[in-house]
Amino acid sequence: MTDLYTQLVNNPVGKLIASNVGLPRPVPLERHTPGAPVLTGRALLGGAPGGRLVPEIAKVLALAEVATSTSLRTDLREAAAAADLDAAVFNPEAPDDQRFKALVYDATGITSSTALAELHAFFHPTIRRVQPSGRVVVLGTPPEQADTPKEAAAQRALEGFVRSVGKELRGGATAHLVQVDRGAEGQLASTLRFTLSPKSAYVDAQVIRVSHGAKVPTKLDWEQPLAGRVALVTGASRGIGAAIAEVLARDGAHVVGLDVPALGDDLRDVMEELGGSALELDITAEDAPEQVVAYLEKEHAGVDVVVHNAGITRDKTLGRMDEDKWGLVLAINLTAEERIDDALLEAGTIRAGGRIVCVSSMNGIAGAAGQTNYATSKAGVIGMVEAMAPVVAERGLTINAVAPGFIETAMTAAMPIGPREAGRRMNSVSQGGLPVDVAETIAWFASPASTGLNGNVVRVCGQSLLGA
Ligand code: NAP
Repeated sequence: MTDLYTQLVNNPVGKLIASNVGLPRPVPLERHTPGAPVLTGRALLGGAPGGRLVPEIAKVLALAEVATSTSLRTDLREAAAAADLDAAVFNPEAPDDQRFKALVYDATGITSSTALAELHAFFHPTIRRVQPSGRVVVLGTPPEQADTPKEAAAQRALEGFVRSVGKELRGGATAHLVQVDRGAEGQLASTLRFTLSPKSAYVDAQVIRVSHGAKVPTKLDWEQPLAGRVALVTGASRGIGAAIAEVLARDGAHVVGLDVPALGDDLRDVMEELGGSALELDITAEDAPEQVVAYLEKEHAGVDVVVHNAGITRDKTLGRMDEDKWGLVLAINLTAEERIDDALLEAGTIRAGGRIVCVSSMNGIAGAAGQTNYATSKAGVIGMVEAMAPVVAERGLTINAVAPGFIETAMTAAMPIGPREAGRRMNSVSQGGLPVDVAETIAWFASPASTGLNGNVVRVCGQSLLGA
């Protein structure tokens, strides 16, 4: 599904007018279809000398059956061969038509500002070879784990590099920085696969932290990673919640969809289609946490994935906002999540290896006029995720958040045309995201392989200029 403007500027006449007048020309983004490969083209693997991640990256690429080339360095070629990665050698002098779907670069060997020249050496001859909907993935070390201040500065510099590359790339291509804790190299697979694949279509210019976590399961069916697991999704009758339910069910989960009793019919329809179950409940009810725990214990003897998606807006500028509008938004978007998590954790209902994923919002990061209540609640969600990450880690669980930007839903369709078009276009891919983009990001956090993701807040906003 593409919006009308995107369709217009991609027909021959529209294309000509748009390029002459200098209008943004969004292209339809590639999205995942079941059974499709992780990467629909060739990857180029590079790295700065002395990096620690190339062997692991090569292993992930080999297991994901990604056709790969490496640059001329002998150590890269040796690491690729050791990982059974059949990598061709790429010579930067190759003709321009030799192109790549992804550039993957291990920057952990960059330990000083002068060594940042390595970035230029690798990307200068290759960046214009990235294909539409392609990927640039730079992997680094979290600056606070650097051995020296100079290494910390160089590793922090990668953030500026990647965010700028995200803004320069065209054709729906995106860029990411993945910071990998020392010793967490083995936790890389789910994040590398996600950032390379079309599942991350509308996620752009994010800094993702991969840290130590429980051991990654050795055998994982990447098509159905949630087989045998139970996932609770709030606000599941429509919009983003229904898309989350659909993607988690596609990944093998039995989905328990929750929504207000007034939307019971819609909820049952969605759940019936997915083979899930419906739980009609207002999450702000006094006894809602106890009801959620009782239902999950009785029907499923626990739960593996909890997605807090239900949320509302009640917009007014602060001076005109009555107490009810303030209170309801905070109660649904933040307090209800805290109360349900507390009850689930106290009762031990979330099984070992469990995942909590919260839906925040870009406006919780950037703020928005008329949304002091909403932005307060969504920033609170981020605070909750960051503070709870070490707490849930002690129980072998993880908690992360997604922060959607402009997503094509009934809510955004109802916006006045001015703010709606601005929201759609003011990002690096010049279009709105789809509910499935939020859902895929949640499914990545929910995967049993994502043991090293805890306390992350990942925006699903196409690198929106707001709050960037
Ligand atoms: P939506 O279509 O309004 O869906 C939200 C669902 O949550 C609705 O079915 C809603 O029912 C339900 N809900 C509300 N209060 C509830 C309660 N007390 N108990 C149980 N269920 C309740 O919204 P959406 O656009 O899909 O958004 C989903 C999430 O993404 C929200 O948290 C939203 O803040 C966030 N988000 C959306 C966008 C976007 O562009 N759409 C951007 C950033 C963040 P009601 O009919 O009663 O409201």
